[in-house]
Amino acid sequence: MYFKMLKLKLLNTIAPAYFFTATVVTFALHFYFFIPTIFDRPGARPSASTLLHAAIFLFLMLNALGNYVMTIRYPAESANESVVPVCSPDCPDRVDAHYLLNDRHFCKLCKKVILKRDHHCFFTGNCIGNKNMRYFIMFCIYTSGTCLYSLVLGVAYLTVEYSISFENPLTFLTLLPLSIGYFFLGAVSGLQFFLVLMLYVWLGIGLTCAGFCCQQVLLVARGQTWCQVWKGHLVEARSSWRANLSDVFGSRWVLGLFVPVQTVEAQLADEKKHE
Ligand SMILES: [Zn+2]
Repeated sequence: MYFKMLKLKLLNTIAPAYFFTATVVTFALHFYFFIPTIFDRPGARPSASTLLHAAIFLFLMLNALGNYVMTIRYPAESANESVVPVCSPDCPDRVDAHYLLNDRHFCKLCKKVILKRDHHCFFTGNCIGNKNMRYFIMFCIYTSGTCLYSLVLGVAYLTVEYSISFENPLTFLTLLPLSIGYFFLGAVSGLQFFLVLMLYVWLGIGLTCAGFCCQQVLLVARGQTWCQVWKGHLVEARSSWRANLSDVFGSRWVLGLFVPVQTVEAQLADEKKHE
């Protein structure tokens, strides 16, 4: 039991570290390699397309990071909860404790009571519930966007710099095994090998996040959480999908699509707390 908990706690610190490393690497690749090589002529002033691509990349990345911070800063904690359930030592669920009243759960990792708990996200090291679901969904959308955009520029960079042709769709299938082989034979530089690896990382994260986001939006629209799906507690749709969506996305959701902002409701609750 304690060993299992230790493993989960370790994952809770390794996953955010992995996220930050991938972010820094992606940022560096864009500004040191991709954008200057693909869009700039040496010696000339930065062209309009350089600025445009730099702006698109910064927009995607800042929104991903901003919503990541919001997910952590405004946790799904349920206020005024005094009853915390005590689990028996042989409880099979390693993270989620038992149901409380009104869709409240206790997370054994966060050690908090969570309103409409959905799941514990190891990449943010926090629980996702009613209050931070919107930031979490926006985080998924922009992470996916950043990764797929990096994939496109990465492919363009490999084409320009190393004359690898991606015209044949099979290139993507053979690229990794060939690169591994050539790298160990010394025919391919470390940087080129690393770039090829990153293409697969971006493709993987990009598709995973996009799929996860779609599922999450569907669940929210049906008024359900992963917790309920796992436990087989499927609730009948009590309210309309519009009401369910606005419960999570709140006011200012249109603005929230483009900038990581708090909902008005959350802001008011925050101000009340500080009074
Ligand atoms: Zn948690």
